Amino acid sequence: MTAQVYDAAVVGGGLVGSAIAWGLTRQGLAVALLDEGDVAFRASRGNFALVWVQGKGDGQPAYTRWTRFSAAEWPRLRDALGEATGIETELHQPGGVHLCFSDAEIEERLALLERLRQGAGNHGYEYRLIQGSELADMLPGIGPKVIGATWTPYDGHVNSLKLLHALHRAFVSAGGRYLPNARIAAATARPHDFRLGTPSGEILASRVVLAAGLGNRALAPLFGLAAPVVPNKGQVLVTERARQILPLPTTFIRQTGEGTIMLGDSKEDAGFDLSQSPDVMATIAARAVASFPWLADLNIVRAWSALRVMSADGFPIYEQSRTCPGAFVANCHSGVTLAAAHAFALAPMIAEGELDPMLAPFTAARFDVPAAA
Ligand SMILES: Cc1cc2nc3c(=O)[nH]c(=O)nc-3n(C[C@H](O)[C@H](O)[C@H](O)COP(=O)(O)OP(=O)(O)OC[C@H]3O[C@@H](n4cnc5c(N)ncnc54)[C@H](O)[C@@H]3O)c2cc1C
Repeated sequence: MTAQVYDAAVVGGGLVGSAIAWGLTRQGLAVALLDEGDVAFRASRGNFALVWVQGKGDGQPAYTRWTRFSAAEWPRLRDALGEATGIETELHQPGGVHLCFSDAEIEERLALLERLRQGAGNHGYEYRLIQGSELADMLPGIGPKVIGATWTPYDGHVNSLKLLHALHRAFVSAGGRYLPNARIAAATARPHDFRLGTPSGEILASRVVLAAGLGNRALAPLFGLAAPVVPNKGQVLVTERARQILPLPTTFIRQTGEGTIMLGDSKEDAGFDLSQSPDVMATIAARAVASFPWLADLNIVRAWSALRVMSADGFPIYEQSRTCPGAFVANCHSGVTLAAAHAFALAPMIAEGELDPMLAPFTAARFDVPAAA
């Protein structure tokens, strides 16, 4: 089999890899996007689909800025993908709320948002506590156990499966080559000279982007990088369709364009175990009913679990290899939210061959993990 030569090979066809791959084709690069396939763990097919800013970046203002930038760029992403593919990603960005059930919770939440506001400096950070009749008007049928909610104007939600579909389709129609069932297990890496073996032949590229989610942990050392990410399980429930009633998303409850209501999501340190558990599902349902008692009348029609891709501090990992320049790693736990930043900002940096200093706080060096030689 003859080798295929590209300007860039992106490993991982989830939300992170496909956003970057599409972004690279927009920079005029010839790009191959390689994906392991259905046997892999794939966060991109099991998430909650929020484009979410509220509460993110405590202790790391660069992450708040990056997330805000991406949320602000999302309308442009929706338009560009819509134009390229005809797929409507169903972006709604009316702001978002986090529901609180006790005074202590409100106090803690306000303290967090104030820290974020101070960290944002001149960028500003708008938030408000909403209570009483204002809250009841904002969220029809809110239950009496909810005593307040914090609101930020930046948040929203999308249809994340349509997003993934649109990114793939836009990538291919821009000339990108998608190679499914192409698990990368071994590679030869030299500065700006990478060789990846796939079942359909060898891929040669002067840039490689590791965007294989949890798979990055094993791949990164082959390229002189480190990706100390671990799985974190989230379970999600979905109700039958209801009339459109929820005008804006909350951290754990949102109504989709089709009318179903998604109830999320647990955070479980359970390794690679993907099983669903009745006790966790019951807790999710109970919290949802405490928030909106009318939800008790709706049937649950679907439920799933999926694995988040988590770093130890919850912030992304973006880095170029020092020993093998041209190799980049990209991991994050909010690939829906960050899709616009990945396509419109990170991909051009990778095409240029250098990450902007604004991403310097996100190297794996912060975990004190030595990158392999
Ligand atoms: C329950 C849950 C709720 C979430 N809610 C939200 C939310 O509301 N908003 C938000 O922004 N984010 C959310 N996320 C996170 C979001 O889904 C992830 O950040 C995003 O999907 C990560 O995408 P990824 O491409 O890095 O990883 P993945 O989707 O896991 O994709 C990695 C891909 O790499 C491929 N791969 C792996 N190893 C190899 C290899 N060796 N060779 C080739 N290919 C390989 C796999 O086939 C896979 O397709 C949620 C996640 C979960 C689990």
